[in-house]
Amino acid sequence: MVKHYDNSLRGYSFEIHKQDNFVCVYCGLDGKIWPNWLYLSSDHLLPKGYSGREKPKYIVTACVFCNVLHNKTVFDLENADGKLKSKTELIEQKKILVLERRNQYKEFWIKNVKSQNDEKKNRNSDMVTDKEIVEACMPILKNAQKEWGTVFLNAYQIWGILNNKENSFCKQMREAYGNEVGEGAGERVTPVVRISQALSRSKKIEHYYMDGMLTEFRIGDKDIKPAYIYDVFRLQADDKLGDKN
Ligand SMILES: [Zn+2]
Repeated sequence: MVKHYDNSLRGYSFEIHKQDNFVCVYCGLDGKIWPNWLYLSSDHLLPKGYSGREKPKYIVTACVFCNVLHNKTVFDLENADGKLKSKTELIEQKKILVLERRNQYKEFWIKNVKSQNDEKKNRNSDMVTDKEIVEACMPILKNAQKEWGTVFLNAYQIWGILNNKENSFCKQMREAYGNEVGEGAGERVTPVVRISQALSRSKKIEHYYMDGMLTEFRIGDKDIKPAYIYDVFRLQADDKLGDKN
């Protein structure tokens, strides 16, 4: 018989997570969003054998990655006066190292994981050219302020507006990249992914990254499952006002 010991549901962890609002104190991973919650753990700020280690005030919520990253690092626990650092001080000193390491991992990921996936996506991405897509999107970005009260749009919104205008460009995009939006976008090019690619490569467009925000969309008469949005676009400053092109 296999014995279960369910880590995430064990008594004190839940209380610790609750006290930290279910957020990793180092990187901010939000366990209130599924399935992030699965990756929360409890991190002891004090090493084994140190008195007070098991006091809840010295245990914090950390995602698994941040938690194990510095298992072998010895931190300064005391200030110059020999007094134990405060909880905030203990968190902050570890946070610096954790964030540094996370960046190294991110750089590795961009170079070795993301770029490979982008390459795969780009192989079949030239059925409609970047130029054609940018030209179709320009009027929408120009009207964004008037119609939507914002200068920033993401590719979902742009594809939604294009669909409302139902024109030959839309048809061409659907024939090339299918009808689906959002779901599965990581593995294959959908119209939304293709718009995002073309706009992010255009010199006429400014491209901003945001922290993923769960956003709901409606495209045509269809509600789209809420999606995480990372990229938003607007016209380059010269084109933002007026109609000169
Ligand atoms: Zn974390």
